[in-house]
Amino acid sequence: MEYISTRNAKNLFSFKDVFLKGLAPDGGLFVPKHVPRYTWKELKSFQNLSYNELAAKIILKFCKDEFNKKEINEIIVKSYKNFRTRDVVNIKELKEINLLELFHGPTLAFKDIAMQVIGNMYEKILKENNLKVNIIVATSGDTGAAAISAIKDRDNMKIFVLHPENKISEVQRKFMTTNNSNNVFNISIASNFDECQKFVKLMFSDKNFSNSINMSGVNSINWVRIVVQIVYYFFSYFKIAKKGKKINFSVPTGNFGDIYAGYMAKKMGLPIDKLIIATNNNDILKRVIRNGIYKPLKVHHTVSPSMDIQVASNFERLIFDICDQNSDETSKLMNDLKENGEFRLNNSYLNKIKETFISESLSDKETKSVINKIYKKEKILIDPHTAVAIGVAQKINEKTSTIILATAHPSKFSDIVIKETKTKPELPENVKNILTKKENFKKLPDDLVMIKNYILDKI
Ligand SMILES: *Cc1c(COP(=O)(O)O)cnc(C)c1O
Repeated sequence: MEYISTRNAKNLFSFKDVFLKGLAPDGGLFVPKHVPRYTWKELKSFQNLSYNELAAKIILKFCKDEFNKKEINEIIVKSYKNFRTRDVVNIKELKEINLLELFHGPTLAFKDIAMQVIGNMYEKILKENNLKVNIIVATSGDTGAAAISAIKDRDNMKIFVLHPENKISEVQRKFMTTNNSNNVFNISIASNFDECQKFVKLMFSDKNFSNSINMSGVNSINWVRIVVQIVYYFFSYFKIAKKGKKINFSVPTGNFGDIYAGYMAKKMGLPIDKLIIATNNNDILKRVIRNGIYKPLKVHHTVSPSMDIQVASNFERLIFDICDQNSDETSKLMNDLKENGEFRLNNSYLNKIKETFISESLSDKETKSVINKIYKKEKILIDPHTAVAIGVAQKINEKTSTIILATAHPSKFSDIVIKETKTKPELPENVKNILTKKENFKKLPDDLVMIKNYILDKI
């Protein structure tokens, strides 16, 4: 499979380039030149596969030039062996909703599913090519924890995680800061997530800096995260959909990564009707779908902090796709964003987007009320991100049956869950020890030079 950049469709890249670079040299995002499409007969043959078998089949399509079947199988098995469910994810058909629980990995958020695979791919690729890398990643709370869990104690790599000070939950922070691996560095920045993300992008585009430290990234723009996330759309479809019928997915969205994986699944032939973009008050995606204007505003802090994002980086991939891989057009829009703080989509692009996507947002008040109501009706505790996906799906009220992506375990956001339900969501047994372990992180001001110096000092 060949890959291209959204900003220049002419240069070709291999899976290995895509994996190691993270971002294309021209600042664009990597996408496959051609998306493979399954026939209905092939899809049906997936029906009875285990999660691991299905994952190996789908992921191999995208990285055949780097791994063979046996290697991918081994990577998948190794990645998921410590998940707390047999089939990696868990599907709950409740009275009124279908939940796809994606939080049974080591750090209790869906990001573990992709990150564990990436950790094992790194190990193999670095060893075979005799390389060392330094991973720098910004987190709104969950990416950092999932990345650290996937990369700690591995040879040939160090990881630096930037999180916004006091803007993530205590449990989120402790997942990152309580492991004392000597290849893990946590940096708490006195700012918000978008600023942390901006610093990472600036370090990447500073070629002197990024080349000198062999910088690599695992942020949500990382193509491999998207590939690995495609799998659970397929897996859950076969468990819920009735005989080839179309289905909707409601996805709590920040960087547009998880839902873009759903879009890929649809392009690959999975009978998906609508993909519901569920947002909190950071509703840039809802606004762009309403009026075609993509304009980041100030970040609001909400009860679903992993979605407190205004710049939905992966949206660039969708734009590239709907303008038929026109990289000049994509570059122009991205340049408008940079120069004028916004870009505008014409009606033909907008209508194409609306064929698949619908969006609504939920306020904090509404989100809390969903947590409370679901507890009363369904007798389960849900985290605020999942609540956004449920509340938005109910607001939109489509007739097609809908699968809700449950992206975090309620115990990761226990304060708000306790407040709304008077019930304490317990951390799973195998992670409880993080609550009492010593924390270790560096506080730095909102200052790129100081952050770079800290990193240079540690590598
Ligand atoms: C990261 C995250 C999201 C948003 O996912 P994107 O891929 O950035 O859209 C939603 N919920 C939780 C719990 C997350 O950690």
